Amino acid sequence: MGADSVSKINSEKFSREGVESMSNECIKIVGGGLAGSECALQLLKAGFFVKMFEMRPNRMTGAHTTSNLAELVCSNSLKSEESTTASGILKDELDMLGCELLKIARECRVPSGSALAVDREKFSKKVEEALFSYDKFELSRQEVTTIDDVPQVIATGPLTSDAMAEELARVTSKDRLFFFDAVAPIVSADSVDMQKAYFAGRYQKGDDYLNLPMNKEEYEAFYEALISAKTAILHDFENKELFEGCMPIEEMARRGSDTIRFGPLRPIGLRHPVTGEKAYAVVQLRRENLAGDCFNLVGFQTNLLYGEQKRVFCMIPALHDAQFLRYGVMHRNTYIAAPGTLSCGFRMIKSRFPLYIAGQLSGVEGYVESVMSGLVAAKAIACELKGKSFSPLPQDTIVGALTGYVAGAVGEFKPMNANLGVLPPITNVRDKKLRKQAYHDRAMKSLSEYLASNPL
Ligand SMILES: Cc1cc2nc3c(=O)[nH]c(=O)nc-3n(C[C@H](O)[C@H](O)[C@H](O)COP(=O)(O)OP(=O)(O)OC[C@H]3O[C@@H](n4cnc5c(N)ncnc54)[C@H](O)[C@@H]3O)c2cc1C
Repeated sequence: MGADSVSKINSEKFSREGVESMSNECIKIVGGGLAGSECALQLLKAGFFVKMFEMRPNRMTGAHTTSNLAELVCSNSLKSEESTTASGILKDELDMLGCELLKIARECRVPSGSALAVDREKFSKKVEEALFSYDKFELSRQEVTTIDDVPQVIATGPLTSDAMAEELARVTSKDRLFFFDAVAPIVSADSVDMQKAYFAGRYQKGDDYLNLPMNKEEYEAFYEALISAKTAILHDFENKELFEGCMPIEEMARRGSDTIRFGPLRPIGLRHPVTGEKAYAVVQLRRENLAGDCFNLVGFQTNLLYGEQKRVFCMIPALHDAQFLRYGVMHRNTYIAAPGTLSCGFRMIKSRFPLYIAGQLSGVEGYVESVMSGLVAAKAIACELKGKSFSPLPQDTIVGALTGYVAGAVGEFKPMNANLGVLPPITNVRDKKLRKQAYHDRAMKSLSEYLASNPL
């Protein structure tokens, strides 16, 4: 039986039974995204019943395009796996904590150098298969607009429906917060002019990226067109509401004619494999799936009108006849003012029943970070329902530092992704590479000690 027919039966069951019939053994999860799916898998593994509510496809968000659970809305990259990077450390920590979505991601890997990139369709399909392999899992395709007093995890993400965002503002007695975020376009592989493109990794590391070189003249014409092209939302995000990590390419370009040439279009470490030529600027395309029949434009998140995207991006020589399978878009990104409201386990501190908020909505930023918060929320709510206390994770792990940030950040609160800056500094190792390794080793040691005394 397919996932859709199962969910249809389940949604009928839901309307008959309602959610009031839920016991302490049953946990409601609102939102079947990255955090919600990881949370559900953890709770199912621990023996709980899970009732998940996902509003798609009945109500879509501005960025999701399918009804799939755990849909990746933009890039298909889960970032670096190298142990000397913050996202690599985070992944090693999550492996130690038994993360389910990371395991699935590795089964759906597409070549992407040292990064973990996935075939997004396959990834969602496998997540759904994993969830439906448990008898104790039920899925209802409906929007949830109110928070009732049953044990639950709200993981409705940055594109939380308006009604739920209002409800959260009411429950937290705080205004909701938001910033703007953008998505990059995807082009079909057979529409790229391969005479003007070549496969290679930066510094001869593999050949996972399709590189589109530009000479000075071509770059300057492209640059001028880019900064003068028409955008879809005008000036709305000018009051510091733009997230730096997802800056639209045209906004970045407006900062100076070389800014993107030192950013996503940097030619450094790339030479044409046949001519040995170094280009003035290089656009990189990354595979969207294993078949390699579609590519996303790396770093090309954009807010340009669709027609303008076609006009301007087709000025990149290898893209003169590009067929756009998806245009870039820009979205509002909602999160709650978590410090003082959520605990280190993502629990609403003042709630009289087990109410948890996970995912990007809680103030973490990024795919893997959202998965992480779903995992931690699952462990914490499981502890609460079993009458055990949940100890915060060590601050010198990325998981512990991020959960600590969400619960207790001081000053202006903005969603935070994994980065070495959140960790207590290591000052006695001078060599940069060794220092990064030391952050990793310290985190691994702390986490294994934590797990030895706090079996989760
Ligand atoms: C446009 C955009 C692009 C992004 N690009 C990237 C990127 O490239 N890389 C990266 O690392 N991070 C990116 N992020 C940030 C973030 O990592 C992702 O949004 C991630 O999917 C967040 O996971 P989540 O589980 O919190 O939310 P989601 O994965 O969005 O899941 C939330 C789910 O809840 C559902 N839902 C919403 N409201 C309701 C309701 N009331 N009732 C029932 N269901 C509901 C939604 O349909 C959705 O399925 C992006 C965010 C946005 C908005």
